[in-house]
Amino acid sequence: MTRPSTLTEDLPTGARATTAPAWEMSYRSLPQVLHSAVQGYGASAPELLAYNEPLGERLTVPAPLADDQAALAQFFSGNTPLPGHEPLAMAYAGHQFGGFVPRLGDGRAMLLGEAATPDGARFDVQLKGSGTTPYSRRGDGRAALGPVLREYVVAEAMAALGIPTTRALAAVTTGDPVLREGVLPGAILTRVASSHLRVGTFQFAAQCGDEVLEALVDYALQRHPLDTSVDGPPALRLLTAVVDRQADLVAQWMGVGFIHGVMNTDNCTISGETIDYGPCAFMDQYDPAQVFSSIDHMGRYAFSNQPPIAHWNMAVLAQALLPLLDADEERGLQMAQDAVNTFPERFEKAYLRVFCSKLGLPGVGSEDAQLIADFLDLLEAAGADFTTGFRSLANGLESPEPLQTSLGAEAVGWHARWLERLGATEKTALSTKLRAANPTIIPRNHRVEAMIAAAVDGDFSLFHALNAALATPFADPEPGTEAERLAQPPRSDEVVHATFCGT
Ligand code: AMP
Ligand code: MG
Repeated sequence: MTRPSTLTEDLPTGARATTAPAWEMSYRSLPQVLHSAVQGYGASAPELLAYNEPLGERLTVPAPLADDQAALAQFFSGNTPLPGHEPLAMAYAGHQFGGFVPRLGDGRAMLLGEAATPDGARFDVQLKGSGTTPYSRRGDGRAALGPVLREYVVAEAMAALGIPTTRALAAVTTGDPVLREGVLPGAILTRVASSHLRVGTFQFAAQCGDEVLEALVDYALQRHPLDTSVDGPPALRLLTAVVDRQADLVAQWMGVGFIHGVMNTDNCTISGETIDYGPCAFMDQYDPAQVFSSIDHMGRYAFSNQPPIAHWNMAVLAQALLPLLDADEERGLQMAQDAVNTFPERFEKAYLRVFCSKLGLPGVGSEDAQLIADFLDLLEAAGADFTTGFRSLANGLESPEPLQTSLGAEAVGWHARWLERLGATEKTALSTKLRAANPTIIPRNHRVEAMIAAAVDGDFSLFHALNAALATPFADPEPGTEAERLAQPPRSDEVVHATFCGT
């Protein structure tokens, strides 16, 4: 199945337009019950912290905005929407930690517009932290600086790792305080997504009747075109595609040791992009049972639980789409089940592809699952760092010694099996292949926390240094550089054990 154009891919050269196509607002054409007109709250003194220029260029941020820092700060705080583009907040529902909440929605986010790019794709440009909406419930509609910078850094790191994700276009401080565990500086993130359609959007629409649900399905299929080879009614084709994209996405998370932290159905996209970087984390030491989120008391969203949870989320999507599958309820249910039941197989396939590539293997062989599992067992038993453990394979081709030093005597036997499986592949080419599949740098929790602490004190140097280092995750950083320092696993006293949502 073809993946729709995503922001993780680079813009083909020569595709940049000289004249900016106007942004659109197609979401407004959907039934009124799915959205509400909103306005920014009026940030008092917006200042631009970061602007992702290459992404802005791709999205053709309306000129002459793009060259004017103060105008950008006003625009990305929601104070000056584009003429004729009344911002909107989207309605959605969702299962949060397994419990159904019928009405969630953008409680602190608003869509500024949809950028139709020169290469024919369309992306939502959304502000997060721009004020209350009809969906705010008891929330203040604001965002604090820390979580905004965390999302900026981690989303951009994900994109650089080649993993489908929403992107960060800009971050501003508002000049206004927000009240959390104390008084914190307020900020607004500009998030870009191939759409903000979530499983929860369909759960919401399902409560509004078949007509609304059908309109949403049609819209989703327009935003995320499918391979025409898939048969069946539109809702089934959509479901099948989403099952495939989510299986693929979660496999890619596993390949970099990423723990999302809040895989609620309202944080699960139809596009297959990672969304909502709250209490997420990248693992340091490999432990499949690892949980970071301070709000995840039951370990529902632990590292190794992510595939079954994504599968569960797909069953929720199927349930929402059920009325559109078949006039005969029995038959509809069977279609839904059949589609959802393909998740484990699709995930397994994607997982093997990801990890075979991390081991440098030529394709996927019948005994590779065992070889992968055994290497992960070695990492776990040795308490080794996930990222450096895999990266060290590129230096372990000539002799088992480096692996033996870091993973113990048992690594020698594994090394022999690995070399045998690799066959007579030329070592230099193999080393290059391994380097391209195993990053040196991920957004380490202790670095992200330190970056946030410094930023709250007014020092943004670490924010910029982290962003810069994470932009080339597969490169070997020069010895002695800041990038090399930022890539290193935490010392035992630096390990971060829990991440806080900090909304
Ligand atoms: P999240 O945990 O960010 O995925 O958000 C879950 C729900 O809570 C969504 O409906 C958000 O819009 C809403 N929400 C989170 N933080 C706030 C806030 N500060 N003000 C209003 N709504 C919020
Ligand atoms: Mg969310």
